[in-house]
Amino acid sequence: MKISVVGTGYVGLVTGTCFAETGNDVVCVDIDANKVKKLSSGQVTIYEPGLEKLFERNLKEGRLHFTTNLAEGIADAQVIFLALPTPPGEDGSADLSYILGVAEQLGKILTDYKVIVDKSTVPVGTAEKVRAVIAKHCKVPFDVVSNPEFLREGVAVDDFMKPDRVVIGTESERARKIMGDLYAPYVRQGNPVIYMDEKSAELTKYAANSFLATKISFMNEIAILCEKLGADVDMVRRGIGSDERIGKRFLFPGIGYGGSCFPKDVQALVKSSEEVSYDFKILNAVMDVNEKQKLFLLPKIEAYFNNDLKGKHFALWGLAFKPNTDDIREAPALYIIEALTKAGATVSVFDPEAMPNVRGVVGDIVTYAEHQYDSLENADALIIATEWSVFRTPDFDKIKSSLKNQVIFDGRNLFEVSRMQELGFHYESVGRTPVN
Ligand code: NAD
Repeated sequence: MKISVVGTGYVGLVTGTCFAETGNDVVCVDIDANKVKKLSSGQVTIYEPGLEKLFERNLKEGRLHFTTNLAEGIADAQVIFLALPTPPGEDGSADLSYILGVAEQLGKILTDYKVIVDKSTVPVGTAEKVRAVIAKHCKVPFDVVSNPEFLREGVAVDDFMKPDRVVIGTESERARKIMGDLYAPYVRQGNPVIYMDEKSAELTKYAANSFLATKISFMNEIAILCEKLGADVDMVRRGIGSDERIGKRFLFPGIGYGGSCFPKDVQALVKSSEEVSYDFKILNAVMDVNEKQKLFLLPKIEAYFNNDLKGKHFALWGLAFKPNTDDIREAPALYIIEALTKAGATVSVFDPEAMPNVRGVVGDIVTYAEHQYDSLENADALIIATEWSVFRTPDFDKIKSSLKNQVIFDGRNLFEVSRMQELGFHYESVGRTPVN
């Protein structure tokens, strides 16, 4: 099949590459000329495990192309995916200007039947809007389908190649058949392609992300309670996770969710609810809890240093909003950096992949360590903000000899408390008793 993907970011590049991998001809379109240039010359523009190999293979085989020219990019395509940004607008609702802008352009250039697919996360009613905008300019038949994407950054290729489910929202038989054929190679193990109306498909994505965000905020509040009551959140997590109705996954407390999806999607669903005069109480609380959670470690750090961080120096491990990605959108680490530097402290950071992106946002207000242990030199404490595997079994002797004080604030509960006690670190984490 000939496919076009408009928007070549985290979702678009993975989508385009993975569709090429099963033999489709894919053209990816992006307005960022620099990105298109890099991709065309074989340079992958994001860090995503496993992507580079697939990208190189399909580029070499001539199944993957890149262009800034929309008309050229969609000319031969049967299916056009919109993987465009839907950032929060000023009032928190999803900003649809990218989607509707491209829809308008498409309306002016469509010359034969095509399926236009909303892969971006968009509020209920967007497919209808896209259809109306295209129809204003366009005389040829077309279908608009809602096909939300559930991939997770860090395991995006696996998620795309073997999705738990594919959701397709359409009432058009013609579009349904095309989409079913396209996805067939990805659900050979029997995972479902769930067909539904487009509004339900649009809401499914927001419901999924909001539910997951709720799970995180719930566990973060349980962790707070554990600290206040002297319980251990690890035990509570295991205790409840063994109940199949609750499940083991996504129960780890930490310093809040970040990324480009949960924060904006929860906010957008709250906004959508307000628009139909519904006060979504749980989600308002989820946002509230998460906002505070990002700076959960700060009062602990301040208390340890007698409320005076001026002149203190910190090592910060982990900048990406989660491991295995270079994405720093809404990353808790950025909030920690801001708070520490505002309080007069200096920070030396290390992240395996995200440092260039952080430099792009905060510049030189922090120093960037080449190696994780370099960041520790003369630091008053180590702070951990992302659970990269490489931080899980560090050389504790090295940490001890580099840090000025044997102090670790762990926002991701990477280490056993008892081990830290034995090693003699002052160790504070989330929902567990501090030691030493
Ligand atoms: P992104 O910012 O990484 O990528 C968007 C791309 O679109 C950029 O490369 C940008 O240059 C390009 N673009 C902007 N305007 C354009 C235009 N007029 N024409 C062509 N290209 C244009 O965003 P993303 O993370 O890939 O997210 C895209 C959508 O997918 C969002 O709605 C997001 O909520 C949703 N989503 C994201 C994820 C994720 O993990 N990142 C997962 C599921 C769904």
